[in-house]
Amino acid sequence: EKTQNPRFGYDARRRFIQLFGEIALGISKDPVHDKTPFEVLFDSTKREAGAEQDVDLSVDDLKTLCQGFLNIVEKHTGAPFPEDPFVQLECAIRAVFSSWDSKRAIAYRQQFKISKDMANGTAVTVQTMVFGNMGPDSATGVAFTRDPGSGENCFFGEYLANAQGEDVVAGIRTPKAIQQLQQEMPALYDELQTLRNKLESHYHEVQDFEFTIEQGTLYCLQTRSGKMNTAAMVRTSVEMVEEGLISQTQALLRINPESLEQLLFPQLPLNHQHSPISRGIGASPGAACGRIVFDADSAVRWEQRGERVILLRAETKPEDIHGFFAAAGILTSRGGRTSHAAVVARGMGKPCIVGAEDIHIDLPNRRAQLDSRVLVEGDILTLDGSTGHVYSGEITTVEPKFSRQLHTLLGWADATAHLRVMANSDTPENAKRALEYGAMGIGLCRTERMFNAADRLPLMVDMIVAQNQNERTAALERLLPIQRDDFQQLLSVMSPRPVTIRLLDPPIHEFLPSEQQLQQDIDHLTHLQNTFGGLHALNQTLPDGLPTGMESLWQNDNQRLVHEALDKKRLMLQKVRDLHEINPMLGHRGVRLGISYPDIYRMQIQAILEATAECIHAGLSVSPEIMVPQVCTRQELLAVRQQVDSVHKTLEARYNMPIPFRFGSMLEVVRACLRADTLAEVAEFFSFGTNDLTQATYSFSREDAENKFLPDYLEQGILQDNPFDLLDVHGVGKLMELATTAGRKTRPEMKVGICGEQGGHPDTIHFCHQLGLSYVSCSAPRVPIARLAAAHAALKDA
Ligand code: PEP
Ligand code: MG
Repeated sequence: EKTQNPRFGYDARRRFIQLFGEIALGISKDPVHDKTPFEVLFDSTKREAGAEQDVDLSVDDLKTLCQGFLNIVEKHTGAPFPEDPFVQLECAIRAVFSSWDSKRAIAYRQQFKISKDMANGTAVTVQTMVFGNMGPDSATGVAFTRDPGSGENCFFGEYLANAQGEDVVAGIRTPKAIQQLQQEMPALYDELQTLRNKLESHYHEVQDFEFTIEQGTLYCLQTRSGKMNTAAMVRTSVEMVEEGLISQTQALLRINPESLEQLLFPQLPLNHQHSPISRGIGASPGAACGRIVFDADSAVRWEQRGERVILLRAETKPEDIHGFFAAAGILTSRGGRTSHAAVVARGMGKPCIVGAEDIHIDLPNRRAQLDSRVLVEGDILTLDGSTGHVYSGEITTVEPKFSRQLHTLLGWADATAHLRVMANSDTPENAKRALEYGAMGIGLCRTERMFNAADRLPLMVDMIVAQNQNERTAALERLLPIQRDDFQQLLSVMSPRPVTIRLLDPPIHEFLPSEQQLQQDIDHLTHLQNTFGGLHALNQTLPDGLPTGMESLWQNDNQRLVHEALDKKRLMLQKVRDLHEINPMLGHRGVRLGISYPDIYRMQIQAILEATAECIHAGLSVSPEIMVPQVCTRQELLAVRQQVDSVHKTLEARYNMPIPFRFGSMLEVVRACLRADTLAEVAEFFSFGTNDLTQATYSFSREDAENKFLPDYLEQGILQDNPFDLLDVHGVGKLMELATTAGRKTRPEMKVGICGEQGGHPDTIHFCHQLGLSYVSCSAPRVPIARLAAAHAALKDA
């Protein structure tokens, strides 16, 4: 009545009945069409009226539609549509309150670990309605104060003329870029720009806001901090500091350390030769590859059986959230950059493409048509969320490069943090990667990993099965140059940063095959020896042109080889039986090996010190550290130290120069923590091996606990967290505190760090900061996370 505009009136009414029916009265989608009855009727009305879009419907069409919608409500609820505005209001308020317990809200809280004490319910805002569907001088849109995909400082948004907000976010019509408003409504565009600047300088955060233009008047409906991927968060944070909008501290604290993991997401190689089969809008960057599924529940099911999946939908709705968590990437055939799929995927840092309009999804038959191509569930696609290109099949991805802004931010983090961040790294390639990620040295090089390569393992086996001292010495002499070369490379890559090299830790039988495997090999070789005399056995054919009479020689030679192999396998089997331990984790490992087989440690010590000398000789400044694992007593440490001193003396004489090194101990045995004051008389540094220390503190086998009983403990709430993942500060942490205090009583400036897996976890890093540790050491990809977490710890406790 007020507007004297029946078209507007019926348009507003059909929208209201539909949304109220869906949200407040709970009339939901039917699973076959994946549409609500309102959507089905809306589509058929448009079809019958020959209308391409909603705006093409006439007043009479809309009138009929409203009646149809009222009928749907009555059919589904058994009561007429409530026409009293106060009843509607109460009903709507109840719907908002109960949305707190909807499936998607619960999934969201679980994913982001939002506990009851953080938030235990939602508020309801009641506000006056404004209308963007009042004609050509009305519009509605969604905008970001900066580009939420890249973080670039440019106005970013979309709008639709003569429409309501739901049309934009649900991807019903493809919206126009905000820049076009400058031509259509220049004065309002300027007003919108003013609003943009005002919002940002007020909130000091990138804002995601919704607006409506009602007959030439601009209204801001809501604003909130924009959900952005981490790359965009980093860029906007650094640029806002540079623009003087926020401080460095604010910039650092805005970014969740764990989220930096997103930046390590793979990308497609720049020069790949694949042609896209479809193009949409790149809504969330990064590349993802997986098998397509057509709904969120399937995404969860497929993911649970170990598949990587791409969720392919016409458009997504909030109730698809569990599918987002399960999917590696999201692809929709409709919607723009501010559609639900785009916003949610960006917030999660998952690659996403929206509006790939040439893909036509046939949900009931679980397939999609793309030109003449048919995509069925399970087909593999690769998405490039940066360009919006969709590829058929799998494309090998490459590691991303760090942006200027990330380097700047992490530089601020390093200057703020008290803890240093080192990497656990055993190969030169990995060390180089760690260095790119900002590692300040190597906190743990597990030397045993160096023996597992194909060219080294046989030498290690020879050393283990050696029958006498001469044989063992010969095998160690062949291992020495290989180890020296390894260490020289690591020290060079990290020069001049410290490299902590741990002497051999695992029991030596770990380098031998299992008893069962050896028995099988022996049976096989014996069979060959008996049956074929060795010739066919080795699958060798007689060489052409072998002189007459040589066949038997050739055959004898092969028989000899089989015979030798058999002898070796038998020796290995005997050794495996001799070395067998009931409980290898608590067995003949770590420094105990060094005591029983001093030659092995001597070889490693010599390799480390020779590598150091060679590096210095080549003009490099290097800082090697020799670390002893599994130490329980001062006497053990002293025994190794004496070996080090003796090798060191010989080498300094041979090289005729000082060879620097530091000598330290792992603290991963309970007794070592309790005796840290005396260990510190010999050790110049300590490193907590919290994997073993957790095992020892709980008496939980680190090999078995996580797939045997720990899931029950976590499910029943007996333990809140897996202590092998997140440090147990009350138990293991107590031992660390005791040992750090005791060690520093003996040696006040003592360097103390952590190198167990927990060392890359932000909460553990906070604890290590509070304990006053000198460094944390973690795997290379966690280094950036640890750098930021170390800065957070310093800022939060300042
Ligand atoms: C540890 O025990 O925490 C450790 C770093 O050593 P490893 O995992 O090699 O036993
Ligand atoms: Mg250990």
